[in-house]
Amino acid sequence: MKKKLSLLYILRNSCCPKCGNYSIFKSFLEIKKKCNCGFKLSNHDIGDGPSFFAIFFLNILIIFFALIVEIKFSPSLWVHLILWTPLVIVFSILLIKYLKIIFLFLNFKYRNK
Ligand SMILES: [Zn+2]
Repeated sequence: MKKKLSLLYILRNSCCPKCGNYSIFKSFLEIKKKCNCGFKLSNHDIGDGPSFFAIFFLNILIIFFALIVEIKFSPSLWVHLILWTPLVIVFSILLIKYLKIIFLFLNFKYRNK
């Protein structure tokens, strides 16, 4: 009997939730249709969930920090632009990648067809 893979292990290696050996990504953000072990990843459609949660939580966080910076230092507008634009881009890409792994794992674990 094979050991069950934990979410942390899968997040760290961004690997298939079934075999744990191969990456689930075709490119940086695109999930493969089928894992090399034969497991069909396309059966576990995660839709727009990761994007929604990434945008939702990142916006709350960034606006919170932008307000703190504005209240404490009241810098001019271009400082906010330079500060927050790269942060939003980098964090949303990373967040979407890891949320995709989490959603696929949960879908595999609780909606196993
Ligand atoms: Zn696999």
